[in-house]
Amino acid sequence: MISVQKLVKRYGKKVAVDGVSFDVDRGEVVGFLGPNGAGKSTTLRILAGFLGLSSGKVVVAGHDIQSESFEARQKIGYMPEAVPLYQEMRVAEYLAFRAELKRVSRRDRAGHVDDAMAKAKVDDVANVLIGHLSKGYRQRVGLADALVARPPLLVLDEPTAGLDPNQIREVRDVIKNLGKDHTVLLSTHILSEVEASCSRVVVIAKGKLVAAGTMEELERKRRPSGLLVVVRGAREAALTAVRGVEGIAKVDEDAAAAHREEGVHTLRATWGKKVDDVAIARAVEDAVAALVRAGLYVREVRATRSSLEEVFAELTAGERRAAEPGASA
Ligand code: ATP
Repeated sequence: MISVQKLVKRYGKKVAVDGVSFDVDRGEVVGFLGPNGAGKSTTLRILAGFLGLSSGKVVVAGHDIQSESFEARQKIGYMPEAVPLYQEMRVAEYLAFRAELKRVSRRDRAGHVDDAMAKAKVDDVANVLIGHLSKGYRQRVGLADALVARPPLLVLDEPTAGLDPNQIREVRDVIKNLGKDHTVLLSTHILSEVEASCSRVVVIAKGKLVAAGTMEELERKRRPSGLLVVVRGAREAALTAVRGVEGIAKVDEDAAAAHREEGVHTLRATWGKKVDDVAIARAVEDAVAALVRAGLYVREVRATRSSLEEVFAELTAGERRAAEPGASA
């Protein structure tokens, strides 16, 4: 549905997008993830036909964005980061106007507007002035706008930016449902957004592709980080026992883990070397044995892994980190 090949965009000397390649297949909901300034908006604006590219090739629904720009744009519903809306128009009136601009025939217009309002969950404010709507509703009017010509492909730039947690949940629900009828590419710098709505993720940083794959593939990049230990008894004895375990470099009490019960401690140990599954299992056994020998009551000992946030931070940290092999899957 979307094929981006070696896309480059320069603003003067500044290279905003630097040789990015990825595909989005029909029916997928793909998250386009990256920190601020990574080049997400630039890429999406090029896809939507709002911005020219410097080099590379972009094909949307079989149409080259440069040589068949009109046909390509017909297939895309684009929701920009800041949705420009006419404050003094009513929602249904505005959407009918937008449908006309998008060349929806007069006969089909009312039906298209009703459907878009239902899908974006703004049908209850059809006759309200846009200027009187809350930010969450306005964002969803922007979504209805992207939907009104019934494009097979939706490109959404940070659809939940600036919303409160309730509004974020509502917009996410709407997006999840859209995946049933549309191919969706949405950008965000929030990892949990991708976890909530997307089947696959494309990660960019500083204009370069740093990873692409399913959420499970991203999960697999989580590295062993150490051990989590919960015990009751003498704190110093517990720390000493865990410090003696093979492979452990550092042990601290997790002060944030509050226990109502007197004498209960949560310790976090980190590996000082690369460990495999066997070494981790042995370390768990050793930690339990050492703690019991030291007279502590053991409540929990388990291996921990780096969080997805840490994976994301690692992926996007390296300025010159090469794109992964097979990353454009
Ligand atoms: P954000 O999440 O902050 O919107 P982004 O990933 O969407 O970030 P872009 O807006 O695409 O990033 O910007 C990529 C880079 O290009 C940034 O360094 C930005 O400052 C630069 N840039 C964007 N638009 C222009 C422009 N019109 N002229 C010059 N530089 C620009």
